[in-house]
Amino acid sequence: MAKPIVIFCDFDGTITERDMIMTLMEKFAPEGWETIKDDILSQRIPVQEGVGKLFSLIPSAKREELVKYAEDAVKIRAGFSEFVTYCRENGIQFLVTSGGIDFFVGPILAPYGDINKIYCNGSDFSGETIRILWPHGCDERCDGGCGMCKPSILRHYPADQYTRVVIGDSITDLKASRLADVVLARSLLLEKCREEGLPHEAFQDFYDVMDSIKRLQTKGVSV
Ligand SMILES: [Mg+2]
Ligand SMILES: [Zn+2]
Repeated sequence: MAKPIVIFCDFDGTITERDMIMTLMEKFAPEGWETIKDDILSQRIPVQEGVGKLFSLIPSAKREELVKYAEDAVKIRAGFSEFVTYCRENGIQFLVTSGGIDFFVGPILAPYGDINKIYCNGSDFSGETIRILWPHGCDERCDGGCGMCKPSILRHYPADQYTRVVIGDSITDLKASRLADVVLARSLLLEKCREEGLPHEAFQDFYDVMDSIKRLQTKGVSV
């Protein structure tokens, strides 16, 4: 029998059209935050360190404003709702693996009740400025610094028991993509998959994703 499919889906720039951390920083962070962003993207500092620094620039008192702004500004990629429903109807586990933060990921995904589980970072608003919490850090097999460690999450679903599908858009999906049976990729992750010769398909929206998953199901999943 074919191994059941489990989907590990990125949030920022995948479920959402734009990265919500960047969207929030543009609006709320003081001048100079771009230096930290550039350090993260060029991998000069680990994601965990960079994201922690970015949110420490913002006063905790802004919490409500941040949530409201995120909910207003977000654009969900086309076909997402239909795809999540498709997964539920077909017994496919749909997990969100996000480097985003609970206070905006949670409210934005609240309407999608068919999501099986959301892995993301936490937050503490009890101090002067926002402190990010890391409940899903790297295991001993990751070289560290992820913050929310996607490859560690994949290892909870062993390759001999599951067909593991990673959906993502960026460098932060790459370590998990190297472990996946198949990657559904856009943007920078698509380039990386091509460069590294990882088994992948490109997507633009979740209708494309659904087509790929249907093909995978018909093939009986021996990618
Ligand atoms: Mg992303
Ligand atoms: Zn890690």
